[in-house]
Amino acid sequence: MYYSLFEIFSIGVGPSSSHTVGPMRAAKRFWEELKKRGVVAQTAKLQVTLYGSLALTGVGHGTVKAIVYGLMGLEAEAVDPEKPYVSAVERDNILHLGQECAIPFNLTQDIVFAKDTFLPEHSNGMKFAAFDENGQTLLEEVYFSVGGGTVVRRDEIARRAPHEPYNVPHAFDTCQELLQLCEKLHLSISDIVLQNEVALRSEKVVRDYILKIYQIMQNSIDRGIKARGILPGGLNIHRRASEIYASLQEKFLNNSMDSLMIIDWLNLWGFAVAEENAAGGQIVTAPTMGSAGVLPAVLRYFERFVGSRAPYEKEEGIIRFLTTASAICSLYRSNASISGAEVGCQGEVGVACSMAAAGLAAAMGATNRQIENAAEIAMEHNLGLTCDPVGGLVQVPCIERNAMGAVKAVNAARLGMRGEGSHVVSLDSVIKTMYSTGVDMSSRYKETSLGGLAVNVANC
Ligand code: SF4
Repeated sequence: MYYSLFEIFSIGVGPSSSHTVGPMRAAKRFWEELKKRGVVAQTAKLQVTLYGSLALTGVGHGTVKAIVYGLMGLEAEAVDPEKPYVSAVERDNILHLGQECAIPFNLTQDIVFAKDTFLPEHSNGMKFAAFDENGQTLLEEVYFSVGGGTVVRRDEIARRAPHEPYNVPHAFDTCQELLQLCEKLHLSISDIVLQNEVALRSEKVVRDYILKIYQIMQNSIDRGIKARGILPGGLNIHRRASEIYASLQEKFLNNSMDSLMIIDWLNLWGFAVAEENAAGGQIVTAPTMGSAGVLPAVLRYFERFVGSRAPYEKEEGIIRFLTTASAICSLYRSNASISGAEVGCQGEVGVACSMAAAGLAAAMGATNRQIENAAEIAMEHNLGLTCDPVGGLVQVPCIERNAMGAVKAVNAARLGMRGEGSHVVSLDSVIKTMYSTGVDMSSRYKETSLGGLAVNVANC
């Protein structure tokens, strides 16, 4: 199935697309359904039940806050993180459903954390139920947050999207199909994505959106470099991006840059975005929020360190980068998963690394086969990567992991472009392997904070 660039790169607030943006969208969808059925005024009580990974790490990932936003009818892109929506509900035990109807809502009683229950369809399950004043059920729905902020209702889980497949001119499920299409039509992977997107919206809307995504990525780097202090959540993690920047500036002024300084710059940009995400700042899912630092870091590397050596002018390079990365993400969404709760961090930082490697190779003028090779190398060396966030917060190991993913992506793009694109392991094979490895992985390593670093590092 073809996944649109508009759903792959979505704008929201951190720290987690699956545990923050997804639950927010599910809650909003539930409210809209109440409205559609004309039962908002009769609603006297709401109950939300979180299952599996959402229940186990929801507190650290901001799920409660997200549910309040969604039930209030707020859009992820429009939330003002400065406004005290949640503390008002906590103080008054009143929720303004869709901002139009006040109902009693107690955050500790009406949001239930069913930590021992994993729904069979997906570990990020949530049930919303609305009752009238006599306790009669008005509506009950189960949703799943399947990664990258995408939410599906129980009846939509098989296709992993809340919509029917798009009617696009170049549909593809596998990389082999994508490469065959490119060959037959003499198009690049980027051209295929652009033609598909333009079949769904005007060319201006598509280009403007890509450049908007790029700008929000840039803004998150710049905000992250300036910000200082301790990240929220109680782990006492200091923001480090500003320190890395200061030391790079000092080295520059003293003319003491070393030959590996490019790695420091990639680390800086990866840290800056990942720290912004951990602090609840505005972020682009790429493919998720936990892994949102990899693409912006590699994109900035492209601008600053490839620049005039690239075969395209800057805007064209950015568009080729992001459209190609989007095609690669569509393959992972069709054939595997981008949810840490389903396949571990392979599906988040692993996929981000694969997307960034492909995007960078495309922006540097690689052939379609070389791009496939770059994306494959990047994932091959992320296979088995677990998700074990300390304290259930998207901070340790997540922030450093974004920097590591960015460095690895640049290396994968360079390796992919060394040859003619012929290689032993295909991208389709590595995607299949990633998914089966994720299925075999114990749930302790899939965003539950029940294993790995989460149990071996003391929460300070
Ligand atoms: S370890 Fe990876 S998958 Fe897990 S929360 Fe952190 S970034 Fe996301």
